[in-house]
Amino acid sequence: MDIWPPEKRSAVMARIRGKDTKPELIVRSLLHRAGLRFALRRKDLPGKPDIVLPKYSTVIFVHGCFWHRHKGCKVATMPKSRQDFWQAKFEANVARDKRNQRDLKEAGWNVIVLWECQVERDPFATIEKVLKAIRPDSPTLDYNTLPDKRTILKAAESRHQWNLSNDTNS
Ligand SMILES: [Zn+2]
Repeated sequence: MDIWPPEKRSAVMARIRGKDTKPELIVRSLLHRAGLRFALRRKDLPGKPDIVLPKYSTVIFVHGCFWHRHKGCKVATMPKSRQDFWQAKFEANVARDKRNQRDLKEAGWNVIVLWECQVERDPFATIEKVLKAIRPDSPTLDYNTLPDKRTILKAAESRHQWNLSNDTNS
């Protein structure tokens, strides 16, 4: 994503918003490898969490750093034009996230928020954290059967490209 200048990046991100993002695919693939079964974007839950683990009463959001305003993250840039528009939009996004998380917690869900940059930087550590949070007494990822980080990232990348090129509606 760094190949795009900030202005262009916003446009690109707007286009892929709501699709399976690369980090989302990475998280799903690793959770799957850890033996977890999950549902995707359950529409009946506040904020349509990206991943739902009913067995562990846990929902996971894989937040895009730009849209959800990851604090202190270099991806959370402010577009140069129409700043009022963006500012309002970002504030609404953050407020909505907060509200959704509160509602989910009140309904008895554990809420885990992962940031895209965190997933891309260290997918394994990120998943270890998730596993620890949802089942503290269970084994974690089996590194003997796990492809290396490069392979995982590449697989997600090609899957993501495939999704984009097959998405003619946006
Ligand atoms: Zn970030």
